[in-house]
Amino acid sequence: VISIPLSFFGGIGGASAKGILVKGSNYLEALSYTKYVVCDKTGTLTKGVFQVTEIHPEGGMSEADLLEKAALVESYSNHPISKSLKEAYGKEIDNNRVTDAKEISGHGVSAVVDGHEVAAGNVKLMKQMNIQAAVPTSVGTEIHVVVDGKYAGYILISDVVKPNAKEAISGLKAAGVEKVVMLTGDAKKVADAVGSELGVDEVRSELLPGDKVDEVEKLIAAKGEKVAFVGDGINDAPVLSRADIGIAMGALGSDAAIEAADIVLMDDDPAKIATAMKISKKTLRIVHQNIVF
Ligand code: ADP
Ligand code: MG
Repeated sequence: VISIPLSFFGGIGGASAKGILVKGSNYLEALSYTKYVVCDKTGTLTKGVFQVTEIHPEGGMSEADLLEKAALVESYSNHPISKSLKEAYGKEIDNNRVTDAKEISGHGVSAVVDGHEVAAGNVKLMKQMNIQAAVPTSVGTEIHVVVDGKYAGYILISDVVKPNAKEAISGLKAAGVEKVVMLTGDAKKVADAVGSELGVDEVRSELLPGDKVDEVEKLIAAKGEKVAFVGDGINDAPVLSRADIGIAMGALGSDAAIEAADIVLMDDDPAKIATAMKISKKTLRIVHQNIVF
């Protein structure tokens, strides 16, 4: 009987040597029968480092102006999108120019910039504000900008998938996972492109943080199987705690995510999920062998 906790200690130790922090032997055990893995897109399967690809100002604004407005209105946000816009802007941001910053989860941000009401976000935010937004011709994540209630154009950014994201998905299949589902708040076009590139089974897009919880709950209820959720915690900490096993990206993820998660991948490598499953199966095999012995 004593060998059981000892085997689990061994498994947890072996996992941590590979950069996988498992917060309890129950999670290590549950991982061995996980049949459904749900992944967040941004920051989990993709790097979350967006490059600005196009700037389309409207209403007499220059490209530089539009980028500046977007970078300033995003100055208080720590969303990957915000970081990329600030980087593309490249100049030091004077926080005195920005007041009343608000983050509208799953939609975008708003703030008063140099005395102007500025909002930046996706098409959902534009609908909410009753603004007619332009429809970009290229594929990418869209950030529409509104200044004083008038549409000012959009910036297109695109993310790149993590180098081993594809291998991570096939690794999960090899480890016995039946279905891999990708959830994202991003636009359908972008989500479908990433989904088919990586070979995930199902893609659900344009979700709000609350919708992600609903999707996971539906899966748990429908299948009666263990469901793992993998995320970076930016807008998905509630799902991390709702899933049977919450797996967080440790380096990129927020403190809330690391706190809410049951398993933390220290180097943000999604291929480590399959590694953790292998360790879990091996540990359980040893436990059973010891019992028989
Ligand atoms: P994901 O599910 O891919 O991790 P999020 O739930 O974090 O995405 O965000 C969903 C969508 O909301 C983003 O794709 C973006 O369109 C919009 N959004 C969220 N935060 C911001 C922000 N700070 N600036 C602009 N857009 C944002
Ligand atoms: Mg996210």
